[in-house]
Amino acid sequence: MASIKAEYIWIDGYKPTAFLRSKTKVVDHFIRSAEDAPEWSFDGSSTRQADGHSSDCLLKPICVISDPIRGEPNVLVLCEVLSPDGTPHVTNTRARLRELSEKHAAQEPWFGIEQEYTLYKNSRPFGFPENGFPLPQGRYYCGVGCDEVFGRPVIEAHLTACLNADLKISGINAEVMPGQWEFQVGPLGPLEVSDQLWLARWLLYRIGEDFGVYAKLDPKPVIGDWNGAGAHTNFSTKAMRDSGGIKVIEEACQKLSRKHKEHIEVYGAGNESRLTGLHETCGINEFRYGVSDRGASIRIPVHTAKNGCGYLEDRRPAANMDPYQVCAKLIETICGE
Ligand code: ADP
Ligand code: MN
Ligand code: MN
Ligand code: MN
Repeated sequence: MASIKAEYIWIDGYKPTAFLRSKTKVVDHFIRSAEDAPEWSFDGSSTRQADGHSSDCLLKPICVISDPIRGEPNVLVLCEVLSPDGTPHVTNTRARLRELSEKHAAQEPWFGIEQEYTLYKNSRPFGFPENGFPLPQGRYYCGVGCDEVFGRPVIEAHLTACLNADLKISGINAEVMPGQWEFQVGPLGPLEVSDQLWLARWLLYRIGEDFGVYAKLDPKPVIGDWNGAGAHTNFSTKAMRDSGGIKVIEEACQKLSRKHKEHIEVYGAGNESRLTGLHETCGINEFRYGVSDRGASIRIPVHTAKNGCGYLEDRRPAANMDPYQVCAKLIETICGE
């Protein structure tokens, strides 16, 4: 009889930013898909998802990948949280995205998310000296050499783990502040990109344990002349990708301009300290779009403008955003009438 370690992963009820939780279930059969993984439960009173008198919440497996840390045949099992009666828990933001993505499936929305994050060691950003500050920003972005980038072994291990688990990572790069890095997930459909982003985040935290470093998704880790951390969300529908799609992209920008506030509400807590109008951002109270403009809310990449079709980049989401909510908002605004 097989003994398989299945790591059940879910999102807790912390506010304003939820965190990942996980625990291990040992099962006696192979798990290849979510249907093979048994439902489970946890103590919701310890995750701000229930009170002590009626504390059980249910874990419904929705996405299974092989566990690149424990190795085959062990698995990671991403779950939705359900209330004891089987309905989606109030903290379960995936349920709404599930509905919206079904409703608008015909438009074939794709997403590519650029996850920026900051590695920390000894309570400071990795690469920051014990006292004072490192040299000003300039050569850290896409740098090479141990005076310019910090934590490469961690991010290499993370990339390898993601690829071994068949996550669709499209690239990684060192970012503008020391200790800051980025990986990109996609392009994929809304549920796939969001599930994979949460799993890739879990792997990042888990791999950090082995190196004695931890990643944080704080939108503005260091106040001052230091870049914040975002989660640029690249978006397209089939009509945008098809010839002449630039017209549809411009219409989408118009729609987005009318819903700016609503979007900012679900784009991550503390984003106001990042969206200042400096450091490659547009101020939080403004909305602008433009070709190649990294100071705009929405950037139309140069090759999209040139080809007359492609995708748009929403630069507003913060690193700590919930992809289920961000993708839902974009679909709602752009794919609705
Ligand atoms: P940047 O120049 O902003 O740093 P990146 O290369 O980091 O861009 O990220 C671009 C993202 O856009 C990637 O995640 C990629 O998968 C995604 N992407 C590419 N084409 C599309 C598309 N048609 N629709 C949505 N996302 C896309
Ligand atoms: Mn990028
Ligand atoms: Mn970036
Ligand atoms: Mn970008």
